[in-house]
Amino acid sequence: MAYIDKFSLKGKVALVTGTSTGLGQGITLAYVQAGAKVVGVDYMATQEDTQTKVKALGGEFYPLQADLIKATPSDLVKLVEKVVEVYGKLDILVNNAGIIKRQDLLEFSKDNWDSVMAINLDTVFFLSQAAANQFVKQGQGGKIISIASMLSYQGGIRVPSYTASKSAVKGITMAFANELAKYNINVNAIAPGYMATNNTQALRDDESRAGQILERIPAGRWGTPDDVAGPAVFLASEAASYINGFTLAVDGGWLSR
Ligand code: NAD
Repeated sequence: MAYIDKFSLKGKVALVTGTSTGLGQGITLAYVQAGAKVVGVDYMATQEDTQTKVKALGGEFYPLQADLIKATPSDLVKLVEKVVEVYGKLDILVNNAGIIKRQDLLEFSKDNWDSVMAINLDTVFFLSQAAANQFVKQGQGGKIISIASMLSYQGGIRVPSYTASKSAVKGITMAFANELAKYNINVNAIAPGYMATNNTQALRDDESRAGQILERIPAGRWGTPDDVAGPAVFLASEAASYINGFTLAVDGGWLSR
């Protein structure tokens, strides 16, 4: 086996959440090119753009529809069961779907708290648990990668539920890793910096805020879905089998400043 093959995802089956656009779509396209089949969960009924792009690459993509704000733990178990029904097994879970709500802290509403915590944290926990149970059942190990944030490290402004959820993602990544490493399951996270996706549209529309952000990024540009895709392939590959519980910043140097 050539050493480079350790970075391949050939024959692997991945479940990725939030795949209709943005970072989840970027990760899906990279996984397909690395040899994996991808089941992509999104609340969008059709994920035509992603389907078309995967097809152009000659890959396999199976779209599933679910609202991950409302999903119960048993709904999430069913998603994992569906992956096994479609492709026979599960090797990789990427918890990517996430939302952000902006409001002044003094007025921050219960809705803006609950919806963000539901998808960014509760779903990440219970879908990871469901995937981990499937990995243990299969007896071949597995990989869980969650998308954290700079706000896993910093407080942020006007986004307290997002900060709480993403700080918790970093925490439970370590907690899962500690209990699952013995099953050959690697649990890690990626903390993207400021990426040009829908998630940051409001920030990028605010000229003065966008200017301040750009000025502080040593790489001198906003990130793209492709910037996150490479690290996501690496963490899902055999080459990363001794990385456990780590949150990897992919931020153009933001945290180094
Ligand atoms: P995005 O808004 O472009 O994409 C989010 C994806 O999740 C979309 O496909 C959307 O349809 C899906 N989604 C949203 N609500 C859903 C729901 N209720 N049920 C199912 N699917 C749902 O955002 P993005 O920037 O690609 O964000 C992806 C992840 O990366 C999120 O967890 C986000 O917090 C995180 N992140 C983004 C940035 C950034 O700068 N863009 C930075 C750090 C972390």
